[in-house]
This record gives sequence, structure tokens and C-alpha cells, in this order.
Amino acid sequence: MRAPSYADAGRRLRGRSDILGVMTTVAIIGDGPAGLSAALFLAKNGHEAVVYGQDKTAMHAAQLHNYLGIDDVSGTDFQTAARAQVTGFGAELRDEQVDAITQQDGRFTVHAGDDTRDADYVILAGAKATRRLADELGVDIADDRVRVDTENRTNVDRVYAAGRLVRANRSQAIISAGAGAVAALDILAREAGKDVHDWDTPPKE
Ligand SMILES: Cc1cc2nc3c(=O)[nH]c(=O)nc-3n(C[C@H](O)[C@H](O)[C@H](O)COP(=O)(O)OP(=O)(O)OC[C@H]3O[C@@H](n4cnc5c(N)ncnc54)[C@H](O)[C@@H]3O)c2cc1C
Repeated sequence: MRAPSYADAGRRLRGRSDILGVMTTVAIIGDGPAGLSAALFLAKNGHEAVVYGQDKTAMHAAQLHNYLGIDDVSGTDFQTAARAQVTGFGAELRDEQVDAITQQDGRFTVHAGDDTRDADYVILAGAKATRRLADELGVDIADDRVRVDTENRTNVDRVYAAGRLVRANRSQAIISAGAGAVAALDILAREAGKDVHDWDTPPKE
């Protein structure tokens, strides 16, 4: 019997959750572990997760021996698997550089070249390169770090930050992935109007 693929898991689990409220659109700026982890949680639960990035993550320079549960993997192989996983659950990866994000009437517009896309939430996960975007949105930055609370919310409503952008000089892949998941779970909870767990159980025999 062949091993199930990420796409199989996506088809099986996507939208099956009782978390789902009205579908919301989340623009995620950055395609490293932080951004992809956020996208996984959001897409898996039926929301529209749009990830911007051109696969230029620092992960391509890494060889992971410190990611719990994984013995040894190159950062490039990790990224390949992560990208397949999030698209398997329905997230959209856009090979684009975000130039600006504007805000009007409670919604955000993401500008990437000639492309524009509206979103209900923004997650900034692009390491130092997204600091300018954070600044332009009015996000608090102090001591070289974007400031966030325990849910990775910034001071600007519905703008989150995660990963190297928040912890510039204390950056590890597993911490970025965890932070992206925290931000996504907070959005899921806000949309559901209650705390949520994204918990799955093994298939019944
Ligand atoms: C040499 C080296 C070795 C390392 N080894 C390890 C290791 O062994 N273990 C470990 O845990 N960590 C290691 N790391 C650190 C690890 O790579 C980082 O912790 C991790 O990449 C951080 O993930 P992130 O998602 O926060 O940011 P990143 O991985 O930096 O991802 C950010 C992404 O956003 C994109 N982006 C930025 N701005 C924009 C924009 N405006 N529009 C669109 N996209 C944008 C960037 O191009 C990038 O692809 C290593 C790093 C280096 C450099």
C-alpha cells in the first residue's frame, strides 16, 4: 500500500474541522517556516491562506539536527516538504515580492508588482525584509524587534508578526514554525468566536 501523500491528507482533513466559521482571507508575507506553518493551520481549517515569497529563505543554508521529531534533514528538503504540505491543504503560494500593504475600511490590500489582493488579516513572516512593511502599517518596533503579544498580535488590529522578524538574533526553524502556528490559531479562534484546538486523531481501524 502506498504511503498517503500530503494532498491525500489535505483532501481527507480539509474542512472536516468543526472550527470553521465564515471563510476569511489571510495574507502571509514570507514563505519560511513561520509563514508556511501559519498557512498550514489556516488552510487546513478552510480559510483562504495566501503565502507570498520567492523561496529565498535562510533555510536553504541550514541542515537541521534540532527540529524535534526529525532526525536530520536539509533545510531545502524541509522547505520542499512544507510547501507541498500547505498546498495539499489548499493554501496558495504566490511567487511574488510584496511591495506594500495598505489598509482601508477594515481591510488590507497587498501590493505585489502589478498584482493586488484584499485580505482580512495580515501575518508578517518575512524576517528583517518585512520590517519596512511593518513600519508603514504602524506596527510597534523597538530594539530591532517587531513587538507582539503572546498570540503574536501586533499593536495594529488583525496584523500579526512571527519568526525572525520578531526574534532577529534568536532565530531557529522550530521557533518560527511554532510562532506561525500561534498566530494562525489566534485567527481561527477570533473567527470561531471561541478558543479552538486543531486536534486530529488516528483513523479508526
Ligand atoms: C547558515 C544558516 C544555518 C542555519 N541552521 C539552522 C539550524 O541548523 N537549525 C535551525 O533551527 N535553524 C537554522 N538556521 C536558522 C533558520 O534558517 C531560521 O530560523 C528560519 O529560516 C527562520 O524562519 P522564518 O520563517 O522566520 O524566516 P525566513 O526563513 O527567513 O523566511 C522569510 C521568507 O520571507 C521572504 N520575504 C521577505 N520579505 C518578503 C516580501 N516583502 N515579500 C515576499 N516574501 C518576502 C524571504 O525571502 C524568505 O523566503 C540557520 C540559518 C542560517 C543562515
